[in-house]
Amino acid sequence: TPIQTVSADPAPRRQTVGVDVGGVLVGGGAPVVVQSMTNTDTADIDSTVAQVAALSRAGSEIVRITVDRDEAAAAVPKIRERLERLGLNVPLVGDFHYIGHKLLADHPACAEALAKYRINPGNVGFRDKRDKQFAAIVEMAIRYDKPVRIGVNWGSLDQELLTTLMDANNAQPQPLSARAVTREAIIQSALLSAALAEEIGLPKSRIILSAKVSQVQDLIAVYRDLSRRTDHALHLGLTEAGMGSKGIVASSAAMGILLQDGIGDTIRVSLTPEPGGDRTREVQVAQELLQTMGFRQFIPIVAACPGCGRTTSTVFQQLAEKIQSDIRENMPLWREKYPGVEALNVAVMGCIVNGPGESKHADIGISLPGTGETPAAPVFVDGKKVTTLRGSTIAAEFQTMVADYIENRFGK
Ligand code: SF4
Repeated sequence: TPIQTVSADPAPRRQTVGVDVGGVLVGGGAPVVVQSMTNTDTADIDSTVAQVAALSRAGSEIVRITVDRDEAAAAVPKIRERLERLGLNVPLVGDFHYIGHKLLADHPACAEALAKYRINPGNVGFRDKRDKQFAAIVEMAIRYDKPVRIGVNWGSLDQELLTTLMDANNAQPQPLSARAVTREAIIQSALLSAALAEEIGLPKSRIILSAKVSQVQDLIAVYRDLSRRTDHALHLGLTEAGMGSKGIVASSAAMGILLQDGIGDTIRVSLTPEPGGDRTREVQVAQELLQTMGFRQFIPIVAACPGCGRTTSTVFQQLAEKIQSDIRENMPLWREKYPGVEALNVAVMGCIVNGPGESKHADIGISLPGTGETPAAPVFVDGKKVTTLRGSTIAAEFQTMVADYIENRFGK
């Protein structure tokens, strides 16, 4: 049989106009940016600073905060200042709804401190007030030299536009489904708002678009269409993705397909946190999505098999978990000390069935003994078997070998 070429490459990234968000480039060929959003009351400065700091340290490259009232707007410059004192320059985005035009006008220090304003064209104002209030925010962005994200969400879609399109659709001989018209309304809302912003004087290089829905197939359809119709930078996110594994799976499925199509310049994984849960989880999931798809590298990845009836002990799971948690803990230091360490691949495997093969694909890998196998654990480095560990100290010895490998390969 002739050897076939099996391509593993995603589609080329769509060319979009790059937007500088407080020093972070979104679009224009830049790596896909990870962002997140706080769920604290922005007027509570201590809590908001703590959560932005946690998100930033977890790897969120842009953080959005709600600016919903005067107290929140007044807190924004203080939050910015406190973050800078902590040495954190992560760009802050103000999320405005309903009264953004008023808050920005009344709080110039807030307008200045933010790196970007998010406008929701579905609730910026209604009827005759809508365009005026939209224009007021865009004019503030021009005055303060800031970009905006025009963020459409089907939960707060421009009802006038939707009604107009529904009426036009119903007058057609073969009307489309209401859902298809809603998708079109989402796209048109984003495109018409962007055109209006540009007419007012905001250049395309300061406009990012998003068009979020909560259903996977709708999101894919909307963004595929949107990306064909514009070269604005695009922010991806499945809104209201949900809790736990459902939110992770739905977000990864939807955004994974779009990213594979070359669509998306920045992503947010919107997870509903468990009560008291860790907000940084969404940053970790976004990073893992980008890394497992090969778009970016954030942290060394540990490949581990799921285990099966051939492994009755939990030694290999414990070792895999220990190595991954050591990596997480040490990453802030390792980034400084070991440039390029993000690319490291470690394999911890449960038995000889796939253990040696998988370990050979990793930079350093171990195949632990399964039930009934000789109590020996071959270790592979750069695809070659270098030693076999035995006895009760296998885990500790392998950890030392991983540390040595990192030092030798990535040490300055
Ligand atoms: Fe089971 Fe071995 Fe495969 Fe792991 S490598 S899943 S222990 S057969």
